[in-house]
Formats: sequence, C-alpha cells, structure tokens
Amino acid sequence: MIIKNGIVLSPFEVLRETDVIIKDGIIVSLGNADIRYEDDAKIVDASGCYVCPGLVDMHTHGGGGGDFMDATEDSFSRALKFHVSNGTTSLVASSVTAPIDQILDMLKVVRKFKDAKEPICRILGAHLEGPFLSEERKGAHKSEYLLTPEADGYGFITDNSDVILNVTLSPELPGVIELTKELVRLGIVVSAGHDDSKKSEIMPVIDAGLTNLTHIFCAMSTVAMRDGIRSVGLTEIGLIDDRLSVELIADNHHLPPELVKLAYRCKGPRKACVVSDSLRAGGMPSDGAIYILGATNDINAQRFKVVGDVAILLDESRYAGSIQPISRMVKNLVNDCKIPLLDAICMASYTPAKIIQREDAIGSISPGKLADFCILDSNLNVVKTIISGEIVFNNQKGGN
Ligand SMILES: [Zn+2]
Repeated sequence: MIIKNGIVLSPFEVLRETDVIIKDGIIVSLGNADIRYEDDAKIVDASGCYVCPGLVDMHTHGGGGGDFMDATEDSFSRALKFHVSNGTTSLVASSVTAPIDQILDMLKVVRKFKDAKEPICRILGAHLEGPFLSEERKGAHKSEYLLTPEADGYGFITDNSDVILNVTLSPELPGVIELTKELVRLGIVVSAGHDDSKKSEIMPVIDAGLTNLTHIFCAMSTVAMRDGIRSVGLTEIGLIDDRLSVELIADNHHLPPELVKLAYRCKGPRKACVVSDSLRAGGMPSDGAIYILGATNDINAQRFKVVGDVAILLDESRYAGSIQPISRMVKNLVNDCKIPLLDAICMASYTPAKIIQREDAIGSISPGKLADFCILDSNLNVVKTIISGEIVFNNQKGGN
C-alpha cells in the first residue's frame, strides 16, 4: 500500500508531498514512492487530508453499546467497532471497580482479543481502574467493592500480568508502595487517581515507580487546607513533576478548555495525552437514554443517562464518563483549546503509546512501525482507518 498526496503528521513534524510506503503491514519508508513498489501496490489517495498515526486510547470502558465488563465477545466487538470507526487503532480496555470474579472474567476476554491476527481494533491489554481507590473520591465506582492492597492482597493482578498493562490506584492506601514496586517489576504501568492523598503519601509512590495520572482534575486530590496548612494534592504534583504524565478527558465537559490548556502548558504534548474514558453509550442514542455502567449482568451496577454529549449519574450528582472517542477530542483541542494540530495528534497517538510503553510499535509514522493510520479531512473528521496496511473503516464516498 502507498498513501499518497496527504499531509503527513508524524506526529513530530509536518511532512508535505510525502508518500507513506507500506509492505506486509509495516511502514517501509517515507518519501516519493518508487516504481518498484507502485507496480503492485494499492494506492490510497489522501489528497486534502491529514495522514496521522492510528490513534491510541489508553483508557476506555467501551462504546457502541458494549462495556468491556460485560466480558462477552459481542460487547468487545461492539466497542472495538465504535472506536475503529472513529480513527482509534489501538486501545487499552478498562475495568471498573467490581467483584474480583467479574474483573477476572473481563481479563479472560481481553486475553482472547489481545493477540488477534486481524483485529477489529488492537486491544493492547487491560487497565484496571480500581479496586484500590479512595472512598472519598470514588467517582462513579461502587463503595462496596473498594479494597486496599495491604488488607485484601493483589494476587489477581500478579496472576494476570500477561494481560494487565496499567493499574490505577490511590497513593494513600496501605500497601500501595509495595504494590507499586511489584507492578513495576512486572512491567505494568502504575497510574494514580480517584485519590485523597497528601504530598507525603504521594512522593514515596512516585519514587517507587508511579508514572501517570488517571484523568487529571477529575476525582483527584487538589490544593486544600489540611491540618491548618495549605497543601497541594496529586493534581498540582502531577502538573509540575516531570516524572509524571497526565491523561485528559478532553470532552469539554469533564474538563473545560482552560484546564486542558493549563495541563498542556505545564506538561507539553509529550507528557499530556487524551483518553476517551468512554462508556458503552459512545456512538449510541443519547438525549436522556439510560445505560448500565459496568457489567450488564450485575444487578447492583450503577446506571447513568446521556445528556447532550456526556454521561451523568441518574441523580445528576456527577459525570459518569465520556461518550466521545479521542478523534472528537482532537477536534476539541484544536477548536476550543487552540492547541496546534500537530501537538493534538501527538497527544492522541505517540504520547499515550509512550505512556503504556508501546511506542516502539505504534503511535508514530516512521519506518519499522506498524502500518496503522487515521486519515482526517480538513475539518478533522475521520475518513479512513487503516490497521496493518488494511483499510478497516472508510467514510469516503466513492473514494479508495
Ligand atoms: Zn475510567
């Protein structure tokens, strides 16, 4: 395959009049395609379009009616189709805080999809959002399933380290430092969030290997008077500590544009990424429709409704999650936060790939990388998604 005539956003530089040459699912070279390849290659004409790396969503719960916690192949397929039709080529499937058995069921299906030869959308692994979260800032997670590593153990994580890529935990819980060290030893990314921690509790966890903050500004400790002293929380430490990256739910609801700009100014495009945190309602009917948060077969599961383009809990007390894919967030970054397009693409491709330690294979357009692309028109709408050099979504009428 040769992708011709587009503007390539690598995403470190803008390359005009550059062809992308692909063979056997891998990017072979960038430049002017020579005759040798053109003879039998499929030509994709990207005239007037941006050729971007396939987008990487490191935090999503589902979409298209499916939640990964349903732990069914049907729900996984629905979610993957929703994301791939919106330019995402790789994702990490997120759990919610639930009984351990439910999480284990979900991990089994992640394992099944992870190494698919012809993926609908690549599943890189699982992200466990809980159960080691703070009661005070649990957000939409259910209290009765919250645990602490010291009292409850974490064998369910170490036993499944082949599919678990990222774990979100709250730094102040007993046993978190030991757990962090163990996760780092196993090659699992440690993220912090849904926390009520103090600086004195956060710094040792960073020293132990914490590298990422889960949806900064949302359900996260922040500046407050504590014991008569004005103290910073995880939010402020995340903004200024260069060892930490941050996730942004840039849907214009969870974060008003000013907070996205603040994080962008503090962290830059290589340390701030966008995540969809999307629920099953992504791509589904909205305007008051009611959905289940987490597994469909869990009679105790939370319910939420969709109002406009965001999900909120039924009592309207808080957001339940987003319903926007990350390609829509790229638009929000550019149009509402005035972030340059090249940086916005970096925040949705290379940066999340780097945070989850997969940047050698995905997230940028350079020789040797997997041939995964998201092609956007001049209005930043997704016109094609390509995985391993195969067009898996095409919204261009009459095009190739
Ligand atoms: Zn989430």
